[in-house]
Amino acid sequence: LPESKTLDVLELKDIFIAVKTTKKYRKSRLELLIQTWISQAKEHTYIFTDGEDKELQMKTRVNIINTNCSAAHTRQALCCKMSVEYDKFIESQKKWFCHVDDDNYVILPSLLQLLSSYHHSQDVYLGRPSLDHPIEAAEMVKSDGSVSVNFWFATGGAGFCISRGLALKMSPWASLGNFISTAEKIRLPDDCTIGYIIEALLEVTLTHTHLFHSHLENLRKLPTDTVLQQVTLSYGGFENTKNVVSIIGGFSLAEDPSRFKTVHCLLYVETDWCPKLKPR
Ligand code: UDP
Ligand code: MN
Repeated sequence: LPESKTLDVLELKDIFIAVKTTKKYRKSRLELLIQTWISQAKEHTYIFTDGEDKELQMKTRVNIINTNCSAAHTRQALCCKMSVEYDKFIESQKKWFCHVDDDNYVILPSLLQLLSSYHHSQDVYLGRPSLDHPIEAAEMVKSDGSVSVNFWFATGGAGFCISRGLALKMSPWASLGNFISTAEKIRLPDDCTIGYIIEALLEVTLTHTHLFHSHLENLRKLPTDTVLQQVTLSYGGFENTKNVVSIIGGFSLAEDPSRFKTVHCLLYVETDWCPKLKPR
């Protein structure tokens, strides 16, 4: 067979991108994402929030899902959202589940390229740990808590991806509200619980990648010429300690404090609101 018939090229429609957000960040965070990277993946991005937003949905045609979870920043509320994200992904029939926060920029071509090197039917858990060592927790699911387990987890604030094959195996501990009870048993946040289910219960290891980024790291240190090859970016601390990627383009720091507009205009030069390059 010619190669074109044997190659199963991964497309954006094969990826379910879940964005976790909350009502109060609609203006300050979500609108920036919708204006930038989400505009390039509207049908494949699902925004999980905690209130109705028919107006934004009508105006932008993005998928907004009201989880009916509480708007508090508690373990219960965040795990409730992750549980809905998981169930919606399973329902979607897509090949990959990727989760990001509402302060992440997703570089879609890099994401596609990265996932293309794996197969969705294999057990794949990809992300960036926030610690340089595994976390230790009392084993409360397989035993009574008298033994402890060590496992790695991908930090939710940098985003992570899970293959469909692996996601299906997580079902006994993740589907239909089971995620919330699993998290309650080990008393850890949503991203740790994902790591616990995958590494400790299913014995599948996290594939560590440096292409995902959260504002827990020093983003200024990321070499400028590599920024557009990363898979996720983030930003933090706008006050006196700005932690944003170093990139130069059509917007000043004041106009684009997160640098997401600058990144977007370097990736998609034809965008109507991007500054036109001055003819020389
Ligand atoms: N978040 C949420 N409910 C809240 C506060 C935050 O769902 O009450 C979400 C927020 O939209 C983001 C993620 O949780 O996607 C992490 O929040 P944030 O960036 O404010 O905190 P940090 O990164 O410091 O944990
Ligand atoms: Mn954050």
